[in-house]
Amino acid sequence: MIDERKNLMGLTKEELSGFVRGIGEPSYRGAQLFNWLYARDATSFAAMTDLGMEFRKRLEDSAVIGGVVLEAHRRSERDGTVKLLFALQDGLRIESVLIPPASALRDGDTAVEEEQKRLTLCVSTQVGCPLDCAFCATGTMGFGRNLTPGEIVAQVLAGRRETGKKITNVVFMGMGEPLLNYDAVMNAAELLIAGAGITARRITVSTAGRVAEIRRMADEKRRVNLAVSLHSAVDETRTRLMPINRKFGIPVLMDAVEYYYRKTKQRLTYEVIFFDGVNDTPGHVTRLIALARRVPSKINIIPFHPISFTHPAGFAASLAPSPRMQEIAGELRRAHLTVLVRTSAGEDIDAACGQLALSRGARSEGRAERRTEAAAAAR
Ligand code: SAH
Repeated sequence: MIDERKNLMGLTKEELSGFVRGIGEPSYRGAQLFNWLYARDATSFAAMTDLGMEFRKRLEDSAVIGGVVLEAHRRSERDGTVKLLFALQDGLRIESVLIPPASALRDGDTAVEEEQKRLTLCVSTQVGCPLDCAFCATGTMGFGRNLTPGEIVAQVLAGRRETGKKITNVVFMGMGEPLLNYDAVMNAAELLIAGAGITARRITVSTAGRVAEIRRMADEKRRVNLAVSLHSAVDETRTRLMPINRKFGIPVLMDAVEYYYRKTKQRLTYEVIFFDGVNDTPGHVTRLIALARRVPSKINIIPFHPISFTHPAGFAASLAPSPRMQEIAGELRRAHLTVLVRTSAGEDIDAACGQLALSRGARSEGRAERRTEAAAAAR
């Protein structure tokens, strides 16, 4: 039998008010539900103790609190990172990663004090990803579908229940390209801000470079942070690393970035992985400096996390040696750019950036198989 009850997870305060009016209740009940769902983490109507018994019964008959079901969690012995595996209503699976303070952003070697209070959750926005960046595990899964706002917000609520602590920062850097699921991502961000008590400035949307949506964020004056996965300031190299660059090359991307800055006056972040001999040469660094000077920004240097379960065809680069990365960071700083060198978190449990692709049993048959075949054929 099909459950025709309405899923309330992911609805805004206005939508919840509309829903309660529809079952003959006053509007303010919608605000109460909003509070229970997103601020007080209720997973059942029975838990909503300040709502009358009769109303709760009516809710049970007409609505459900959907979301994501925690299937497994794995904790890194090395740094305390926790990878959460969730099942969705249709049986597909996604992952989120809880990043404890000590291993989140570091400025050089000294963790900033504020840092110690930080608890970051890295959430997924799509099942798989259509973009196929050469170095990313998620790309090998192919694209499943977009997540709903409810499925995005539910990852944060579940993460908070799991740790029993306040999640202070949310980064849309799990599986998927957030800006290809624009409406759901922005709606989820608004729910986190208005409902779950997360500050807009502590939410970051990371994109591989969807220019129309960067402009849309600017037009809509979105307060969340924008991060652009740049990886190279040289078109040819960037295209090799990120096929999306074939469509929106660096000049078009930078026009959008400048537009974004003009409209929002918000500093953005560039994410860069330095690959040995690929984008860490002096020529590449010079180009990166010139690009990064165009608008106020900061550069996050992310270590490359090897992909364990399958090696993408045609991509055999490895991380630039650590002394070279420190040298580059120094050079960028001398050029008056703000640089953060990120440490790896969760690498031992395949939970680091770009490693989210689900273990074999958990993922659907996708491009990984085809890629493996292609790699085998090429050998
Ligand atoms: N699609 C979005 C968000 C998901 S990826 C984006 O491209 O920004 C989140 C970050 O992880 C991006 O900066 C991405 O470039 C980086 N990343 C992907 N694979 C990685 C890997 N194997 N090692 C380190 N970082 C990786």
